[in-house]
Amino acid sequence: MCGIAGICYSKDAAILIARMLHALQHRGQEAAGAVSREISKNGIHFYEHRAPGLVGDTLAREEVTRQLHGDAALGHVRYSTAGPKHTAHASQVADAQPLLREGVALVHNGNLTNHLILRKELEGQGARFQTKVDSEVILKLIGRGEADTLTNRVCDALTRIEGAFALIILSKKKLIGIRDPLGIRPLVLGRVGDGYAFASETCAFDIVRGEVVDEVAPGEMVVIEDNEVRRINYASVTPERPSRPCIFEYIYFSRPDSEWGDKNMYLARSRLGKQLAREEIARGTDLDLFGDDTIVVPVLDSGLPAAIGYAHQAHLRFSPALVRNHYAVGRSFIEPTQFLRDLKVLLKHNANKALVRGMRVILIDDSAVRGTTSRLIVEMIRSAGAREVHLRIASAPITHACFHGIDTNRGELLAAGCEDLEEANERLRKASGADSVAYLSHANMVRAVRCSSQCDACFSGDYPTPLTDLQT
Ligand code: 5GP
Ligand code: MG
Repeated sequence: MCGIAGICYSKDAAILIARMLHALQHRGQEAAGAVSREISKNGIHFYEHRAPGLVGDTLAREEVTRQLHGDAALGHVRYSTAGPKHTAHASQVADAQPLLREGVALVHNGNLTNHLILRKELEGQGARFQTKVDSEVILKLIGRGEADTLTNRVCDALTRIEGAFALIILSKKKLIGIRDPLGIRPLVLGRVGDGYAFASETCAFDIVRGEVVDEVAPGEMVVIEDNEVRRINYASVTPERPSRPCIFEYIYFSRPDSEWGDKNMYLARSRLGKQLAREEIARGTDLDLFGDDTIVVPVLDSGLPAAIGYAHQAHLRFSPALVRNHYAVGRSFIEPTQFLRDLKVLLKHNANKALVRGMRVILIDDSAVRGTTSRLIVEMIRSAGAREVHLRIASAPITHACFHGIDTNRGELLAAGCEDLEEANERLRKASGADSVAYLSHANMVRAVRCSSQCDACFSGDYPTPLTDLQT
């Protein structure tokens, strides 16, 4: 998962890109980078900066933005899905985006499912790759294309790639925003000042007093040149092949104040929590028996909207009994010993004993991936003096790896191979040590999100594109 943004026709392009990426920081904390373009009487020049770490500590610094000249720029915050994670800074920077080759800069959010095959084919034709990232394949296809215009070379390249991609391309003349034919990853077109911009999420426009114009549609390429917007459908969504926006953006990834289509992420998450409470009632739990000694506690931050929705629907008391420390990010804490590894969750979360002691706690998290957070937080709430801990997850069991840009393939998926909800509940109950556990059912999760169609492959194994690299 990553965050991307691009802007043109603004004299503060680099500063605004840094601000927009700051609003997308939740999408990736490993590295940040930007490329700017300057058109002057001396010609067209590109400037670049990439560094491991957070936007505020790197890109947004005055001495950095001052060097990124020009009135157009694009940028990227990285959350690696492939490639080295906790390795040396050097490899982190080498694989960091934007990519820049021969007057074309590119940023990519998503994951291609046929990049290995394409890379092999291109290498066979003499192409030499400088990084391990799948996105470089796109640049190579564009660079080696035979069509007369950049727009046509990009279109040709798009017919070759499979998988999930939201792309922004900055060339000598154009800024281009593209979404894959199924619209798996988000991308928004907007106005900032007198110019145009693209970003992964609408919250990136709020931070620069911009204005959202429209989603880039699935299968659409939006070309901005001379401050004019040209929208090209390179692959249409049809009733037989509807769009497949990633459901995990609604559940966890996007910021709650972002909107995707006509849907606000906070409201979607709050409905997920309400559905959890409805299922509780449908199972025959008599919530009236839960009195003043029962509290609904969110695992912050992403469990918050669901917990509020749950408490509201169940008429139970909401209590922010877990405190979250926001400064434990990045790679500032290395855990060399088991003792320190066990303490890791304490970097981020702490239970407020005065609120928890003697209570029956209904703990709400947005998702369970490996079940580690659940186990450690259940244990924490118990040792803070809770009488009972009931764990509720505001999404269905994650049974399958994601090949389209979310890091759910990392490590073991707790619910992998589970046949049904009961089995997943039982497995998480054992793993977490909670008194009771309930995931949300798949049907009600989809209902709460209110998309007419979506990619829910991590919950179902129903992948939206062929997994070509995996099958060959
Ligand atoms: P687990 O501890 O079960 O492996 O992960 C579940 C927790 O991680 C939840 O609290 C959820 O909010 C969070 N989470 C879910 N998906 C992701 C992800 O892709 N990256 C990160 N960093 N956290 C995630
Ligand atoms: Mg969480």
